[in-house]
Amino acid sequence: MDVLKAVSRRRFVGGVTGALGYLSLRPGAELWAQAVDATAAATGRQTPVDGYDALAKLANNENPYGPPESVMQAMTRAFKYANRYGYPDGGIVAEIAKHHGVKPEQIMLGAGSGEILNVACTTFLQDGRKIVGSDPSYTILYNHATGIKGGVVKVPLLEDYRQDIQALVKATTANYRDVGFLYLCSPNNPTGRIVTQEEVRQLLDGIPEDVPVLIDEAYHHFVDDPAYATSVPYVLEGRQVIVTRTFSKISGLAGMRLGYAVAPRGLIERMRPYTTGSINAVVKWGGVAALKDTASQDWVKRVTLDLRTRTTAELESFGYSVIPSDANFFMVHIGRPVAPVIQEFRKKGVLVGRPFPPMLEHLRVSIGTADEMRRFMTAFKEIFPARTATKNG
Ligand code: PLP
Repeated sequence: MDVLKAVSRRRFVGGVTGALGYLSLRPGAELWAQAVDATAAATGRQTPVDGYDALAKLANNENPYGPPESVMQAMTRAFKYANRYGYPDGGIVAEIAKHHGVKPEQIMLGAGSGEILNVACTTFLQDGRKIVGSDPSYTILYNHATGIKGGVVKVPLLEDYRQDIQALVKATTANYRDVGFLYLCSPNNPTGRIVTQEEVRQLLDGIPEDVPVLIDEAYHHFVDDPAYATSVPYVLEGRQVIVTRTFSKISGLAGMRLGYAVAPRGLIERMRPYTTGSINAVVKWGGVAALKDTASQDWVKRVTLDLRTRTTAELESFGYSVIPSDANFFMVHIGRPVAPVIQEFRKKGVLVGRPFPPMLEHLRVSIGTADEMRRFMTAFKEIFPARTATKNG
């Protein structure tokens, strides 16, 4: 069945029914639903474990639609290699290299980009060295760094929640001998704000050139701002830049675990001994198909940004300001401690993001399906009173 044609036909229907039709019908949705049904049938489970499936899952910046049909088919075909160690892997490394216009030796796979971040810590934070990075940013990386006895030099965000490039340069230069690597997440998690192409250039030109800079582009595919650009060209320039990407977000493969680094060969060679190589046969084929299925990626981006615009506009008109985001999540200023609020949402069957100190009066909300966003807004209006609209971020 040609799902994409069905999607575009549906878009012409117009009105609410049409809109909901196109939101619910997407490449691969049917196959995915069948797979879920088949799993439930095979395990004899009629109700989800701990009610998980019934929850609105807006806490982990996932892609709520799952992998598209093209990826499901590629992965299904690859199951025949489940019993093998040595198997054809679809040429995943070569495909990623081609996608970015780099050499295969400039690519390193990870079981999710999270593995690459951990490997960067193990490689570059020996002897108690430190990460320099913004605060808040991807906390899990900082926790891992301290867990392995490395350090983190945290640089506060600017007042508008953008990253303070000059302060990052200063902190790197001041701590030069102790710095293992500089971490730059763009768009940043949890704020969703980008670092512009110009700011990345200023940063790289401002710090000693032998300091590795890890630029985390997990949310790259959701950015619309023309001031943003990928930092892969810096790898081609031979700078000490590691760009990380993931198949967990736009490609809907978080549970399958695949990510990668693009970096100069020398940095890859330093990191590679610390990788586990624990990437499964199935997701390698899924990754190859995902890279080629740009139509599905465009669809996910369009639907996600549309729902983000609608949800944030509704929150603003209810009187709650939202930090402008370029990712598949956003932060809303709730003006009271977030931890108990997360519990209140949980009681209403809506999972939302964890506390991100020091932004403890902001709530991070991932963009789910149209239905999940409706459930979020209903819960929000039950928990919070309407206010006169403000713009205080
Ligand atoms: N980097 C950022 C900024 C993230 O938000 C995440 C996950 O949410 C990751 C990396 C890790 O993603 P994964 O290991 O699924 O590729």
